[in-house]
Amino acid sequence: MGNRRPLIAGNWKMYKTPQEAADTAKQLVEQVREVADVDIMIAPPFTALESVSRVIKNSPVALGAQNLYWEDEGAYTGEISAPMLKSAGCQYAIIGHSERRQYFGETDKTVNQKIQAAIQIGLKPVFCIGETEQEREAEQTLSVLDKQVRKGLERLLPEQLDTLIIAYEPVWAIGTGKTATEDQAQEVHQFIRSLIEKSFGNDLSKSIRILYGGSVKPDNILNLMAMPDIDGALVGGASLSADSFSRIIKFKG
Ligand code: PEP
Repeated sequence: MGNRRPLIAGNWKMYKTPQEAADTAKQLVEQVREVADVDIMIAPPFTALESVSRVIKNSPVALGAQNLYWEDEGAYTGEISAPMLKSAGCQYAIIGHSERRQYFGETDKTVNQKIQAAIQIGLKPVFCIGETEQEREAEQTLSVLDKQVRKGLERLLPEQLDTLIIAYEPVWAIGTGKTATEDQAQEVHQFIRSLIEKSFGNDLSKSIRILYGGSVKPDNILNLMAMPDIDGALVGGASLSADSFSRIIKFKG
């Protein structure tokens, strides 16, 4: 965690009704009221954005979406646009999560279109990248990440990327209880930072926040955050309970 401000983000995936989400968010707000040195975000399902938005108003917890569609409006049944999310109170949008790539056909190209739409409206993209177990075993981790970063950020300029956050999430570590060791994660984060430097320059590579995701829990966050290129975490399972998520947020003790 260099001198960048940490971000701890919770991805609630397809869990919680509007009432359940508001209840968890309310507990979370109570538990993190005093936290001032960490950015906090939760991304509930679309149907709970409104109820959660009401509960987190005037708290350190910000609202995020789990996905968006790149057109502003139109005949796109079932989709939600970046301006709609902005007006629902979102500040962040998770883009290109591996579950979306795996189950919903998202590609580097659609991820790029979504990142552009988010930036255009002023949503901070949390751009997810990561290799599968098979790719890691075939020693393709770095080439896979190189392609995801290059294609995902195609046609974007450094000055458009000052709010972009990258989340490195090895697919084999998501929801499996297997975490990359802090050394494995650090090595990859350093590599991603070097890719940003090569394509977008030194200033952005120094300021961009790179989160780690994949079975982050209260008992492994401290070691991960001790690494110089890990600037926070994207948390799935352990963000669903306010108790465990607030322990992750308060990793410094
Ligand atoms: C995620 O969904 O982004 C994630 C990292 O999940 P988990 O923490 O449950 O592995």
